[in-house]
Order: sequence, then C-alpha cells, then structure tokens
Amino acid sequence: LMGYVGFANLPNQVHRKSVRKGFTFTCMVVGESGLGKSTLINTLFNTRLYPKKEVPPPSQERSKTVAIESISADIVENGVRLRLTVVDTPGFGDFVNNDDSWKPIVDNIESRFDAYLEQENRVNRAKLVDNRVHACLYFVQPTGHALRPIDIEFMRRLHQKVNLIPVIAKSDTMTDEEIVQFKARILADITHHQIQIFHAPVYENEDEETIAENEEIVRKIPFAVVGSDTEIDTPDGRRVRGRAYPWGVIEVDNEDHCDFVKLRQMLIRSHMEELKEHTHDNLYERYRSEKLVGMGV
Ligand code: GDP
Ligand code: MG
Repeated sequence: LMGYVGFANLPNQVHRKSVRKGFTFTCMVVGESGLGKSTLINTLFNTRLYPKKEVPPPSQERSKTVAIESISADIVENGVRLRLTVVDTPGFGDFVNNDDSWKPIVDNIESRFDAYLEQENRVNRAKLVDNRVHACLYFVQPTGHALRPIDIEFMRRLHQKVNLIPVIAKSDTMTDEEIVQFKARILADITHHQIQIFHAPVYENEDEETIAENEEIVRKIPFAVVGSDTEIDTPDGRRVRGRAYPWGVIEVDNEDHCDFVKLRQMLIRSHMEELKEHTHDNLYERYRSEKLVGMGV
C-alpha cells in the first residue's frame, strides 16, 4: 500500500508498551453543517483502514448527522491492533439560534471523562477502558477570511477539554496561494484569541529522518483537507480517491494536493501517544481536580 506507514515507526519504548496494551484511539469531528465532516470520516475509514464487517458502511444513511454518534473499526498493521473510534457531531448552522450548539459536544467530552473517573475510583482498576476523546478536528469554513465569532466561541469552549486540531474544510475550493495565506490568518487569530490548539512536540531522541518528518506534519497545521468516498479516474489512467473538476482531479491521498495524508499520519502514527498522554496528564487531570474541588473534597 503506497504511502501507508505503520505503527512500527513509533519511538521504541512507546511502541513496546502500546503493543502490550493494544491501541485504542478516539477522535471527534466538530464544525458547521455541510463542511464535509462525515465525508472525511468515511475517507479515514476507507479500505486502507480495514473496517470490520459488523461496522455499517459509513457512507450510507449518514447524509445528515442529527445526533452525536460514533463509529469504530480495527486497524491491523505489522501485527499491532488499533481500535479507532470517530465521534461525529451534528453541525451547527442548522438552527436559527446557534448560541448553545457547543453544549452537547462539551457534555459528551465530559461524560467520557466521568466514565473514566468512575473506573479509576473502583476498587478493581485492572482494566480501565479509555473512551475519552483524544483529538478533536475543528472544521473551518474555506472562506479565506478570518475565523468567525462562532469558530472562536466553539474553540474556546473546547480547548481546555480536548486536543484541538483545526482543519480547513474542502480545501479543494481554494488555490494553493489562498491556503497558505488562510493558514497564517487562522493561526494568527488563534494566537490573538488565546486559544490553545494541540502543540505537537517533536521527539528529540529520534533519528533525523523521523524528526524531519514530524516537523513537516506539525508545519501543516491547520491541515487543509479534502474528503471523498468515491474513486475516480485520473487523465493519466490511475484510479484514486478524489474529486473531479473540469480542469482536473484533486487527489485525497496526494500530498501535493492536500494535507489529508499528513493529518492521518499525525493522528494514528506520529503523535497518537502524545495526544493520549496530553489528554490524560493535562486535560483529564484538570477536569478531575476541578470536579473534586466542586464536590468539596
Ligand atoms: P457534514 O455536514 O460536515 O458532515 O458534511 P458532509 O460530509 O455531509 O458533506 C456535505 C457536502 O459537501 C456533500 O455534498 C459532500 O460531497 C461535500 N464535500 C465533502 N467533503 C468535501 C471536500 O473536501 N470538498 C468539496 N468540494 N466538497 C466536499
Ligand atoms: Mg455530517
């Protein structure tokens, strides 16, 4: 499989530990309705991720998300199993009043913290099931302008609860030049509004090649993504996942065309353990201590 890189490249210690425990990873998608969230999930769960038989094919009956729902599938790579879960949230923008549309999302994240906390408080803590959200993709409309007030509101509500990773939705609708400028503008807005997005570290004790690769992934944030669940033919006779235009084909899996591959690498390869550690050590820990204070403990 072209461009498919496995878990074997994780730092050795992390890798060995995770092989023993088995990987689980949960990612959430958030953003306005119609920005391609469900399509991107389908793209993530394509055959390359070997979805299990009992998982319903995501493309059907998923045209409009009305409730928070999650889809899981197992990935096996070099004998290592990963159970990947993606939580799809209804998009905002569907209602006359979007003031509280972040609330069910925050509730969902917190109830997953609560479920973990409850297990930690049990006498027998041998097998903790971790269903916490380890990463949240926030979909930004490809306007080329600034972040909108509703984006800022959402991200501010979420940033202390979850690892936020902003993505530019439907980036095939923008030119390369526009994307470069829009990325800079989004990052400037995020800094200005003191929103904490996931700060991806680069492992210093890795070989040069891995460090360079990780740096390249981090540099792509906010990832300019394109989703597609259909295969099309390119003029030079290849069959690819992509979107067709009169002037040509945008390929989902082509790194010269969009950042989908890099985003996917970050989530399930290069930074998965970091995302999980930060969730546990910082985000969950903050929630846990605030909760204890609230209960007067
Ligand atoms: P959601 O409401 O955020 O889940 O959005 P959907 O995944 O249902 O997509 C809404 C519409 O946008 C559908 O017609 C998709 O085919 C289309 N779409 C999804 N992803 C992309 C993309 O990357 N580029 C373009 N141009 N259209 C997309
Ligand atoms: Mg949807």
